[in-house]
Amino acid sequence: MAERRCPYCEQVFHPSKYQPGQTVCKAADCQRWRRADYHRRKIASDPQYRQVCLDSPRKWRTRHPDYWRQYREEHPAAVERNRQQQRIRDRGAQLRNLANNNSAFELKRSAAEVWFTGPSFERLANNNSVPAQVWIIEGLPQRKPPVSESCKQQRSGIEAALAG
Ligand SMILES: [Zn+2]
Repeated sequence: MAERRCPYCEQVFHPSKYQPGQTVCKAADCQRWRRADYHRRKIASDPQYRQVCLDSPRKWRTRHPDYWRQYREEHPAAVERNRQQQRIRDRGAQLRNLANNNSAFELKRSAAEVWFTGPSFERLANNNSVPAQVWIIEGLPQRKPPVSESCKQQRSGIEAALAG
Protein backbone atom coordinates (compact mmCIF):
# COMPACT_ATOMS: atom_id res chain seq x y z
CA MET A 1 0.00 0.00 0.00
CA ALA A 2 1.35 3.41 -0.97
CA GLU A 3 2.50 5.82 1.74
CA ARG A 4 0.55 9.01 2.37
CA ARG A 5 1.15 12.16 4.35
CA CYS A 6 -1.42 13.13 6.99
CA PRO A 7 -2.61 16.71 6.37
CA TYR A 8 -2.90 17.36 10.13
CA CYS A 9 0.26 15.98 11.75
CA GLU A 10 2.18 15.76 8.44
CA GLN A 11 3.49 12.30 9.34
CA VAL A 12 3.75 9.60 6.68
CA PHE A 13 1.34 6.70 7.20
CA HIS A 14 0.02 3.60 5.42
CA PRO A 15 -3.72 3.60 4.67
CA SER A 16 -5.68 0.77 6.29
CA LYS A 17 -6.34 -2.10 3.93
CA TYR A 18 -10.00 -1.80 4.91
CA GLN A 19 -10.05 1.90 3.97
CA PRO A 20 -7.90 2.34 0.87
CA GLY A 21 -9.21 5.90 0.48
CA GLN A 22 -7.95 6.91 3.95
CA THR A 23 -6.33 10.35 3.77
CA VAL A 24 -5.80 11.06 7.50
CA CYS A 25 -3.58 9.01 9.81
CA LYS A 26 -5.15 7.03 12.64
CA ALA A 27 -3.88 9.20 15.51
CA ALA A 28 -6.82 10.13 17.74
CA ASP A 29 -6.15 13.89 17.49
CA CYS A 30 -5.96 13.79 13.69
CA GLN A 31 -9.20 11.78 13.50
CA ARG A 32 -10.84 14.35 15.75
CA TRP A 33 -9.71 17.16 13.44
CA ARG A 34 -10.96 15.19 10.43
CA ARG A 35 -14.42 14.72 11.97
CA ALA A 36 -14.59 18.38 13.01
CA ASP A 37 -13.71 19.45 9.45
CA TYR A 38 -16.28 17.06 8.03
CA HIS A 39 -18.88 18.50 10.40
CA ARG A 40 -18.02 22.07 9.32
CA ARG A 41 -18.22 21.23 5.61
CA LYS A 42 -21.44 19.29 6.06
CA ILE A 43 -23.07 22.17 7.92
CA ALA A 44 -22.09 24.49 5.08
CA SER A 45 -23.34 22.21 2.31
CA ASP A 46 -26.31 20.25 3.68
CA PRO A 47 -29.31 22.37 4.77
CA GLN A 48 -31.05 19.50 6.53
CA TYR A 49 -27.95 18.52 8.51
CA ARG A 50 -27.51 22.17 9.40
CA GLN A 51 -31.11 22.42 10.60
CA VAL A 52 -30.71 19.44 12.90
CA CYS A 53 -27.35 20.56 14.22
CA LEU A 54 -28.09 24.23 14.67
CA ASP A 55 -31.40 23.64 16.36
CA SER A 56 -31.18 25.24 19.77
CA PRO A 57 -30.15 22.99 22.68
CA ARG A 58 -33.21 24.22 24.56
CA LYS A 59 -35.58 23.00 21.83
CA TRP A 60 -33.75 19.72 21.66
CA ARG A 61 -34.03 19.21 25.43
CA THR A 62 -37.73 20.05 25.28
CA ARG A 63 -38.24 17.30 22.74
CA HIS A 64 -36.08 14.83 24.67
CA PRO A 65 -36.85 15.64 28.33
CA ASP A 66 -35.55 12.36 29.77
CA TYR A 67 -32.56 11.81 27.53
CA TRP A 68 -29.83 13.26 29.76
CA ARG A 69 -31.27 12.02 33.03
CA GLN A 70 -31.27 8.55 31.51
CA TYR A 71 -27.81 9.05 30.08
CA ARG A 72 -26.45 10.00 33.51
CA GLU A 73 -28.07 6.97 35.10
CA GLU A 74 -26.68 4.62 32.48
CA HIS A 75 -23.19 6.18 32.31
CA PRO A 76 -22.04 6.89 35.89
CA ALA A 77 -18.39 6.64 34.82
CA ALA A 78 -18.85 9.39 32.23
CA VAL A 79 -20.53 11.58 34.84
CA GLU A 80 -17.67 11.04 37.29
CA ARG A 81 -15.04 11.71 34.59
CA ASN A 82 -16.79 14.93 33.66
CA ARG A 83 -16.81 16.01 37.33
CA GLN A 84 -13.09 15.38 37.60
CA GLN A 85 -12.40 17.31 34.41
CA GLN A 86 -14.45 20.20 35.76
CA ARG A 87 -12.37 20.13 38.96
CA ILE A 88 -9.20 20.29 36.86
CA ARG A 89 -10.61 23.26 34.92
CA ASP A 90 -11.55 24.98 38.19
CA ARG A 91 -8.07 24.40 39.59
CA GLY A 92 -6.56 25.83 36.40
CA ALA A 93 -8.67 28.96 36.85
CA GLN A 94 -7.56 29.23 40.49
CA LEU A 95 -3.91 29.00 39.47
CA ARG A 96 -4.37 31.66 36.80
CA ASN A 97 -6.07 33.94 39.35
CA LEU A 98 -3.25 33.36 41.80
CA ALA A 99 -0.69 34.24 39.13
CA ASN A 100 -2.58 37.39 38.14
CA ASN A 101 -3.00 38.62 41.69
CA ASN A 102 0.64 38.40 42.69
CA SER A 103 2.92 41.31 42.05
CA ALA A 104 6.67 40.81 41.93
CA PHE A 105 7.07 43.49 44.59
CA GLU A 106 5.18 41.46 47.17
CA LEU A 107 7.09 38.33 46.33
CA LYS A 108 10.37 40.09 47.09
CA ARG A 109 9.21 41.03 50.57
CA SER A 110 7.99 37.61 51.60
CA ALA A 111 10.95 36.19 53.49
CA ALA A 112 9.71 32.72 54.28
CA GLU A 113 6.80 31.21 52.51
CA VAL A 114 5.87 27.81 51.21
CA TRP A 115 3.23 27.44 48.53
CA PHE A 116 1.74 24.12 47.64
CA THR A 117 -0.91 23.75 44.98
CA GLY A 118 -2.75 20.66 43.82
CA PRO A 119 -4.10 17.65 45.72
CA SER A 120 -0.86 15.67 45.38
CA PHE A 121 0.85 18.08 47.77
CA GLU A 122 -1.73 18.03 50.52
CA ARG A 123 0.09 15.50 52.71
CA LEU A 124 3.44 17.13 52.10
CA ALA A 125 2.08 20.50 53.17
CA ASN A 126 0.83 19.09 56.48
CA ASN A 127 4.15 17.48 57.30
CA ASN A 128 6.36 20.36 56.31
CA SER A 129 7.88 22.57 58.97
CA VAL A 130 10.91 23.95 57.13
CA PRO A 131 10.82 27.74 56.75
CA ALA A 132 11.83 28.45 53.19
CA GLN A 133 10.53 30.19 50.14
CA VAL A 134 9.47 27.42 47.81
CA TRP A 135 7.03 27.57 44.94
CA ILE A 136 5.64 24.39 43.53
CA ILE A 137 3.29 25.06 40.66
CA GLU A 138 1.42 22.18 39.13
CA GLY A 139 1.40 22.33 35.33
CA LEU A 140 -1.92 22.76 33.54
CA PRO A 141 -3.09 20.05 31.16
CA GLN A 142 -2.48 20.73 27.47
CA ARG A 143 -5.36 22.00 25.39
CA LYS A 144 -6.91 19.27 23.30
CA PRO A 145 -8.24 19.60 19.76
CA PRO A 146 -12.04 19.87 19.49
CA VAL A 147 -14.07 16.91 20.67
CA SER A 148 -15.87 15.67 17.63
CA GLU A 149 -19.57 15.11 18.02
CA SER A 150 -22.05 14.78 15.25
CA CYS A 151 -23.77 17.96 16.35
CA LYS A 152 -22.53 20.99 18.19
CA GLN A 153 -25.77 21.37 20.10
CA GLN A 154 -25.47 17.82 21.38
CA ARG A 155 -22.02 18.54 22.66
CA SER A 156 -23.16 21.54 24.65
CA GLY A 157 -26.04 19.37 25.79
CA ILE A 158 -23.64 16.73 27.07
CA GLU A 159 -21.59 19.27 28.96
CA ALA A 160 -24.64 20.95 30.42
CA ALA A 161 -26.20 17.67 31.41
CA LEU A 162 -23.10 16.08 32.92
CA ALA A 163 -22.18 19.17 34.87
CA GLY A 164 -25.41 18.83 36.85
ZN1 LIG B 1 -2.02 12.60 11.56
